[in-house]
Amino acid sequence: MGKHRVVVVGGGFGGLGVVRGLKRADVEITLIDRTNHHLFQPLLYQVATALLPTGDIAPAFRAILRKQRNAKVLLGEVTGFDTQARKVSVDLPDGTSKQVSYDTLVVAAGSRDSYFGHDDWAGVAPPMKTLEQAVALRSKLLRAFETAVAADDPKQWLSFAVVAGR
Ligand SMILES: Cc1cc2nc3c(=O)[nH]c(=O)nc-3n(C[C@H](O)[C@H](O)[C@H](O)COP(=O)(O)OP(=O)(O)OC[C@H]3O[C@@H](n4cnc5c(N)ncnc54)[C@H](O)[C@@H]3O)c2cc1C
Repeated sequence: MGKHRVVVVGGGFGGLGVVRGLKRADVEITLIDRTNHHLFQPLLYQVATALLPTGDIAPAFRAILRKQRNAKVLLGEVTGFDTQARKVSVDLPDGTSKQVSYDTLVVAAGSRDSYFGHDDWAGVAPPMKTLEQAVALRSKLLRAFETAVAADDPKQWLSFAVVAGR
């Protein structure tokens, strides 16, 4: 009989914690994520304000798990679950799809940003939950500073409003 197969969807704090916690278990783990890296979300604002480069907060799963023999990584978008057949459907980067079988399934796919009924605010106050969003925000901030240097009225480029936070 083969080893017990654990499939973990999502390699954030939740999913990665499960994978690492099973390091010494006699199981076969597959970590599936749509990105190839873990993301240390609490430091996203440091990237957005150009204090840290992206690589510092987004280590590759393969690097993190390189010494964990019972874990492998699959890059792909999970699109569904068949809990009767115990299979996860995954869209792979090459455009094909794959079914991954499991004995135990862990879904740790995180959450999405919410404007609490005010989705129209997203246009003026973009969210910051992914690396791409933080990098886009960084470009916007740096461009504002550069524009201010050459502007007749720099102040209009140097006013930033932060909504929410704790
Ligand atoms: C800017 C910011 C600052 C924060 N600061 C703090 C703080 O100071 N202290 C604190 O305790 N918390 C903080 N948090 C919250 C904390 O970071 C999150 O609660 C935590 O990262 C959530 O972890 P998670 O594993 O549940 O989800 P995530 O980290 O979101 O991980 C989910 C993973 O699932 C993957 N995924 C999702 N859907 C799919 C799919 N369909 N197919 C394949 N992969 C998929 C994603 O790519 C991702 O890697 C902060 C969050 C943000 C955004």
